Amino acid sequence: MDYHGISVLDEPIAGRRYFLDPTSPEVVDLVAATSRHILESYPALEGIQLDFIRYYHYHSRFTVLAQELGHTLSLLAEGSPVQLVVGDKRVTFFLEQKDMLYHDPPLGKELHFHRQFSYCFCSRCIEEFCRRQGAVLPAELQSTQEKAEWILGHLGEAWVHFRAQVLEDLLAEVRRAVKGVGADKELSITVWYSSPYGSELVGRAADLDSAVWDFGQDWWRWAEVGLVDFVCPMNYWLTTESFQMVIAKQRSRLKGDLPLFSGILRSPEHPLSGEELTAYLEAARRAGAAGLCFFHYGTWRDLDWKVGKAR
Ligand SMILES: [Zn+2]
Repeated sequence: MDYHGISVLDEPIAGRRYFLDPTSPEVVDLVAATSRHILESYPALEGIQLDFIRYYHYHSRFTVLAQELGHTLSLLAEGSPVQLVVGDKRVTFFLEQKDMLYHDPPLGKELHFHRQFSYCFCSRCIEEFCRRQGAVLPAELQSTQEKAEWILGHLGEAWVHFRAQVLEDLLAEVRRAVKGVGADKELSITVWYSSPYGSELVGRAADLDSAVWDFGQDWWRWAEVGLVDFVCPMNYWLTTESFQMVIAKQRSRLKGDLPLFSGILRSPEHPLSGEELTAYLEAARRAGAAGLCFFHYGTWRDLDWKVGKAR
């Protein structure tokens, strides 16, 4: 359930993506049991990597030029929901701001819509948050969005901590399952370096703390309390210079010498030659990474490159 009270069951992300809610004991059991089952079924596997060990987050915005929208303008008030319908899929946005030239004649300027894909504000999560924090929500709050707004406005930091703790509890349970199969089995996680995705491509510097605030990934802490054997930050869409800088910052926050394998992406939009890959690998090593983690397999097949000492 997101900030507005819309469930992914009703509006899956991009029409097809659903998420499990980690405050559900059944979800925790499912992920732990599945991890155990995979390792027991394939004894040659060295461990489990949890990829999407995070809350989905995206603050979506778009602007419409509305000069000639006409009388429909009067229908739209700030806060109004508007749905985009594509076939049998739909996605709801909310009018955040309405800039008018004149109300009569109906000449608009711009309509700014948004949707805060921020999870999870289902009643179980809110109740569990209140229980752990000893918090009581004001009785007059009725809708999910009113509750979410109040929580973020009054107990924002506690909410961030709560979500990270929920993921940490899940991780601890998965670790018990993995180590239960064999003490030598390893558990690793995929984490984000910044929010929103690809921040550098839209002129924003990487903000490491946003991984905790937006995705619930307090992964330095998870490393410190011994829940993971190595980490793979998805350091995608960065120049080699930024790649090195981001890894160095990530390394400096990691207590001890837990191995960090920096994620690297190759795609049609972001092609990499063998020489460029070598440059990234060298940048990673200079920053103290143990190696690279490749995303995703299919995109690397045609690259003529020798692995050398990289893992
Ligand atoms: Zn929930």
